[in-house]
Amino acid sequence: MDFQFNEQETAFQNEVEEFLKKELPPDWPEKSTHWPGGYGSMEMKADSQLLDVAGRFRRKLVEKGWLTIAWPKEYGGKQHTYMEQAIFDERVSYYRAPGMGIATGIAGPSILRFGTEENKQQWIPKIANAEIEMWLGYSEPDSGSDLASIQTTAVEDGDDFVVNGQKIWGTIAHIANYAWMVVRTDPDAPKHKGISFLIVDNKSPGITIRPLINIVGVHSFNEIFFDNVRVPQKHLIGEKNMGFYYLMLALDFERLMVGIGGFRRVLEELVEYVRHAERDGLPLGKNVSVRQKLALISTKIEVAYMFFWRTAEMLDKGLSPSVEASALKLICTELSRQLADTAMEILGPYGQLMMDSKWVPFRGMAPRGYLDCISATIGAGSSEIMRNIMAIRGLGLPRK
Ligand SMILES: Cc1cc2nc3c(=O)[nH]c(=O)nc-3n(C[C@H](O)[C@H](O)[C@H](O)COP(=O)(O)OP(=O)(O)OC[C@H]3O[C@@H](n4cnc5c(N)ncnc54)[C@H](O)[C@@H]3O)c2cc1C
Repeated sequence: MDFQFNEQETAFQNEVEEFLKKELPPDWPEKSTHWPGGYGSMEMKADSQLLDVAGRFRRKLVEKGWLTIAWPKEYGGKQHTYMEQAIFDERVSYYRAPGMGIATGIAGPSILRFGTEENKQQWIPKIANAEIEMWLGYSEPDSGSDLASIQTTAVEDGDDFVVNGQKIWGTIAHIANYAWMVVRTDPDAPKHKGISFLIVDNKSPGITIRPLINIVGVHSFNEIFFDNVRVPQKHLIGEKNMGFYYLMLALDFERLMVGIGGFRRVLEELVEYVRHAERDGLPLGKNVSVRQKLALISTKIEVAYMFFWRTAEMLDKGLSPSVEASALKLICTELSRQLADTAMEILGPYGQLMMDSKWVPFRGMAPRGYLDCISATIGAGSSEIMRNIMAIRGLGLPRK
């Protein structure tokens, strides 16, 4: 067992670090207050100026080939190792920079794994070049954890499917171009067997997207209605009625996108804060309780890092880190809450002030994170579902 990066990996990490320092706007650290594990504090989704910056930055990532590091060369990738992809993800999230999106992080790798050759030719170049972004159309008002129960239907009619139904909690559906979604294509089959994957153009007639404001006050969620929406049959991904099995794999890709570097970044910022801040005439960093809390959370962050590197190593060995993806998602999102608790406890009463207050410590990140981290343990499968997966697939316990 070797816990060191090799020479090539270290050189790549340095290259990514230099790139981020050079290419991100100088005021990025102040502007980007994204809480690790959170969804709603990604204010770049709401602010058009930040969206522009994120768009320009992503173009540079495309030029470097870094959004598709581990993809095969024939599909526009660099065919590097998953470890290098993990190194990239770690540094990008440490700088809270815009990195992979849903299209590059979830849909692309899924199409490469289970899409037909025609699917790959149609979608992979656009995804690799960051020409399109997608939103995830999985959840419905009565289907969340139990995705096999989805009701949105797609019925074949000539060269098209006709889609009817409703999706909910579609993050970024209002700014993405396409839905990466699951639909019921065989209502008579057992519920796991009648589901298919479709890519649906947001501009199709019959789609209505309505905003849902999240707990942080940001428009990140949407509810999306499909009323006789015609979708070309060639937008079917993989085989018809195999969608539920593909979904399990796509969810694993999503669960690996934990933004691990953000945890270390916030910890370092907290440590820096307590070095300088004083309470009752004493430096906070000398306070026993503060030191204990920081030492504990730093240990937990190290554990999360170990899980993160382990999943990359498994992928490089050709193994499927399904249980590990769930464990990583569980650990990181629970950690998101623990980190927010720690920050709020250390910052004390002033820590509750929001960003616009002149007395606000820590750029007001803590209360935003404190609210936002609640969502982390629900999106992409709740903590209870992650524990179920680990119990069933990891420990071999019966389903019920
Ligand atoms: C920030 C965020 C972003 C999201 N983005 C998207 C998105 O882009 N696209 C999308 O499709 N969806 C999205 N979702 C929806 C998310 O996937 C669902 O909220 C989640 O799967 C839970 O489903 P539910 O809300 O219907 O809760 P339910 O499934 O009704 O669960 C309610 C409670 O019961 C528990 N529970 C349910 N089943 C079991 C079980 N078998 N064993 C033990 N406990 C169980 C759950 O853990 C939870 O605590 C997002 C959610 C959040 C919070």
